[in-house]
Amino acid sequence: MSTRNQLAKRMSLLGTETAFEVLARAKALQAKGADIVNLGIGAPDFRTPDNIVEAGRKALADGAHFYTPAKGIPELRAAVAEDVARHRGVEVDPDCVMIVPGGKPTMFFAILMFGEPGSEILYPNPGFPIYESMIRFSGAEPVPIELLEENGFSFSAESVLARITPRTRLLILNTPANPTGGVVPLEELDRLAEGLEAHPHVTVLADEIYSRMTYDGFRHESFLRYEALRDRTILLDGWSKTYSMTGWRLGYGVWPRHLVDHAERLQINSNSCPSAPVQWAGVEALRGPQDAVDRMMAAFDERRRIIVDGLNDVPGFSCVTPRGAFYAFPNVTGTGIGSKKLEEKLLHEAGVAILSGTSFGALGEGYLRFSYAAGVDDIREALRRVKDCLATVAP
Ligand code: PLP
Repeated sequence: MSTRNQLAKRMSLLGTETAFEVLARAKALQAKGADIVNLGIGAPDFRTPDNIVEAGRKALADGAHFYTPAKGIPELRAAVAEDVARHRGVEVDPDCVMIVPGGKPTMFFAILMFGEPGSEILYPNPGFPIYESMIRFSGAEPVPIELLEENGFSFSAESVLARITPRTRLLILNTPANPTGGVVPLEELDRLAEGLEAHPHVTVLADEIYSRMTYDGFRHESFLRYEALRDRTILLDGWSKTYSMTGWRLGYGVWPRHLVDHAERLQINSNSCPSAPVQWAGVEALRGPQDAVDRMMAAFDERRRIIVDGLNDVPGFSCVTPRGAFYAFPNVTGTGIGSKKLEEKLLHEAGVAILSGTSFGALGEGYLRFSYAAGVDDIREALRRVKDCLATVAP
């Protein structure tokens, strides 16, 4: 056996985000002339609002071409602190804010910081696939928090607390959630926060990237609200979803004071700093008019109703109404077909790209994820095709 190109063992532990693979497969089929409706990827389909694009363009023209401080420009860190105060009602020190290229780096850094062989990290399952992937990569043991349909894809605080051991280092929360669109009710967060007071060795990573995307008057409550836990809560948020800025790569973490220098060193060792002009666009996003966000949310809400109604009309499907994010997660066990097989069937026979629930962990079996970050016409067309494709298979 050749010893050339021998990879580190941990590379075999690294998973992936299947959404990118399905996107590539859908594009390859499209390139061959296939007519594919893509409801696979979790990226808002709107153009980034013009005022934000203009701020980025102006920053480039004005000479924002250089490295910035590793944690980000002071103007943006201050704007994030203002935004956290406005939407979460919590005062944070801009020195504890670190700007990063997207939502993912905060997750990456937090898991690298705490995960190592012999440690355990609790994470939602089904959940964003990078949690489990990165936990395994770090050498830690991934311990699933089960999100069940009968609990509204939330959890009971008791069941989470019962899984904490002396080896637990990090607890990852995500509300509103990908892939289920579920939200954790405030009472449950309260109970969890109270219970965590007895486990001072556990840090919380609160992934609130969908915090502005809720429906039916549901108010997102941040995990930062618990003062007793603030010195061990890491908040993750970013611009990708709220401002339709997935390709700009801009996000932030609010770190406990004793962790922020470690986070900064991880940033210096990887990204150096976030993109300079993009940070100026981020300042405009937070401080500028917010009516584009309201318009996007009104459109998502309309699509949500259409997709949930349509999915409930597909033989063998039943779909609860999501209360946040932009995903529908129908139970498809009534079709008698496994999730992965159904993903393949719908791509090849119906020309509809969606994701198997198993892309989000073993507990996603029996479900599919439909992203409704697509136009109403595409959503209606996808629903028509799925219904036709399954008309003959379901009981
Ligand atoms: N966290 C969750 C729950 C997500 O669904 C996503 C993206 O889909 C991210 C983080 C990462 O966001 P970004 O694309 O900004 O890295």
